[in-house]
Amino acid sequence: MSLSRQVILVKGIVQGVGFRPFVYQLAGRYGLKGQVINTPEGVVIDVEGKTESIDKFSIGLKEEAPPLARIEGISSQPMEPTGCPDFKIGYSERAGTVEALVSTDVSICPDCLRELFDPTDRRYRYPFINCTNCGPRFTIIKDVPYDREYTTMNVFRLCPECQAEYDDPADRRFHAQPNACPVCGPKVVLRDSAGGLVAPENAVIRAAALLKEKNILAVKGLGGYHLACNALDDEAVGGLRGRKHREDKPFAVMVRNLEQAAEYCHLSSEEARLLASPARPIVLLKKKECLLADQIAPGNAFIGLMLPYTPLHYLLFEHIDIPLVMTSGNLSDEPIAYEDPDAYMRLGEIADYFLVHNREINHRCDDSVTRVYRDEEYLVRRSRGYSPAPLSLPREMGQVLAVGGEQKNTFCLTKGRHAFISHHIGDLENLETLQAFEREVGMYKKLFHIEPELVAYDYHPEYLSTKYALCLPGIEKTGVQHHHAHIAGCMAEHGLTGHVLGVAFDGTGFGQDGSIWGGEFLYASLTDFQRIGHLNYVPMPGGAQAIREPWRMAAGYLYRQYGKAWRSQKGVKFLSEKNGMVLGTLEEMMAQWINCPPTSSMGRLFDAVAALVGIREQVNYEGQAAVEMEQLALRAGEEVNITYSYVIDEAADVLIIDSDPVISEILSDLAKGDAKAVIAYKFHRTVQDMVIELCLQARARYGENRVCLSGGVFQNMLLLDLVHRGLIRNNFEVFVHRLAPANDGGISLGQAVVANERRKTGCV
Ligand code: ZN
Ligand code: ZN
Ligand code: FE
Repeated sequence: MSLSRQVILVKGIVQGVGFRPFVYQLAGRYGLKGQVINTPEGVVIDVEGKTESIDKFSIGLKEEAPPLARIEGISSQPMEPTGCPDFKIGYSERAGTVEALVSTDVSICPDCLRELFDPTDRRYRYPFINCTNCGPRFTIIKDVPYDREYTTMNVFRLCPECQAEYDDPADRRFHAQPNACPVCGPKVVLRDSAGGLVAPENAVIRAAALLKEKNILAVKGLGGYHLACNALDDEAVGGLRGRKHREDKPFAVMVRNLEQAAEYCHLSSEEARLLASPARPIVLLKKKECLLADQIAPGNAFIGLMLPYTPLHYLLFEHIDIPLVMTSGNLSDEPIAYEDPDAYMRLGEIADYFLVHNREINHRCDDSVTRVYRDEEYLVRRSRGYSPAPLSLPREMGQVLAVGGEQKNTFCLTKGRHAFISHHIGDLENLETLQAFEREVGMYKKLFHIEPELVAYDYHPEYLSTKYALCLPGIEKTGVQHHHAHIAGCMAEHGLTGHVLGVAFDGTGFGQDGSIWGGEFLYASLTDFQRIGHLNYVPMPGGAQAIREPWRMAAGYLYRQYGKAWRSQKGVKFLSEKNGMVLGTLEEMMAQWINCPPTSSMGRLFDAVAALVGIREQVNYEGQAAVEMEQLALRAGEEVNITYSYVIDEAADVLIIDSDPVISEILSDLAKGDAKAVIAYKFHRTVQDMVIELCLQARARYGENRVCLSGGVFQNMLLLDLVHRGLIRNNFEVFVHRLAPANDGGISLGQAVVANERRKTGCV
């Protein structure tokens, strides 16, 4: 019998996920001695015993790891056996570089769920039940290592029973930092909107009863407050809309289980898997003919559903069988409330009651939003349950900070093979969001021990993220063009190097010629790009105002083609309805390009067409006109196989798409009285053709066959699918986002990868 000893280092997400108790039990099973300890580099296991037992142990380590662990590397070193008498769990070391990866917040696990509804369990109906496999993580963390004293649970003293679980290596709650019970842990109460105590006991039952009526409740969740109401009651949902000042933007709905989800929406197996995944994101699903209030997502065929993810959610659904609106606790576009005093101040006017508790949230973290495209996940917002877990990229990276964009901001830090994309910070247009941005950058640096040597930023001089980056003292900086960042992010996800053809379609991105880009074709590498094609420029009358009022974009397109005759075009509703003075002023502005930045944005072309067709002249949220046009086009169906004309000058250095014929042919369709849906579909098909033709010409010129699709416009599933299919039909290799969103939430990743690559090749 041969004895040996191995010191094994396990890297990855192995802290706060029940890894040490798992190792302890595994070592016991094979009669091994030694110890397991959390270190800044990861978990270190020192085992000795029979050689073949150690072999089996090593296999078990990989194959039986706890559900939340993500092992990214195991290395081991043989040592001399010491004759150690037992197996111990050691205590954390704080020295050295911390590479241990903080885990994300996780929905309640099946074991805890069983206990929650077991009348004999001491945590029966306890809203804060958790174990090492589930519960809050990132949102309660104040510092590393992930130990109770550095979380917001530090104010609750463990009772003897909880302490015993916490100390017992064989227990499911061994070192479960948020461990708690009704005796020692946080408590839930129901208050009125002035903060007065309504129900100290039976808070959940009372809350459920209030929700069944038409009341609006603020419910404190994992990463912030939700506003909840009965999703079947039009009056309640309409009331919430009014109070929240949110006209049309869809609300998310929480359903009690997958069966209920299938009652209201079409559900594929992949969609069901995402709904029930431990991250519990909001999943965008095709709505069925059903009883859900129309006000939830007006004019939208899709609806965002999620399953309960905290014990408190499950307890609410024990007493109600209706689905609940669960929308972010904020007023219109403000950041979601997560601190109690702020929540009472901001939500007091909206919510009738507050279902709250005294476990503090330390990091605001919005719900993640996702959907399925071609049987795989296609993210819309990467946040709670996903961040701060890093993406593992097939490349070695330095310590870099990328500050992201302005809308849907995320930032990204890199180190080793990890890209830590932050949770959704929001639109960086007010002081509060900027402060949150700065605070979270600081927190991530601390959590992952990253001290950036290089900062990447967008060229837009007015982005607050850019201003922040440029003001950082004593650190090298590199600018990354907005659409290049979009494409580089997509490349990085798929581990692409060399060059690709990039199609970046979005609303707004600062171009290097000072104009607003957004309908861009790039020949791109990870360090640089060439703009090889784009939509023609049109005036954007009133600048940002034209984003809120798509009819202005239609005016821009009409003026571009018809000059002074633009106002006499037939069949355009807004031309006959708008005040002549207003149109006259607009014309003067466009004639002299005053407050009319030129744009090549594809998002704005969608807006213009939507306004021309009369779908929408004003929007209440970003992208609304395009969303509604997509919905309309879907109704036209596939039988429409004609397109509008456009012109590309094949001899030019830069392939510019002349869209004038698109506009004039739409006008003649309108004059003929063609159905809006048909025009909308024909337009989608036209954009498909534009992309394919331009990519074919680019392939002939550059010999490149790989195409990356990125930018917020590719959240239009009809367009994405048309373009994707068309490219494949022409034998292109097509890459779409999978790990990060196609919208501006994904550009921090692209910036970070470009900065790293530039540094590696000596470009900065
Ligand atoms: Zn659990
Ligand atoms: Zn306790
Ligand atoms: Fe963008």
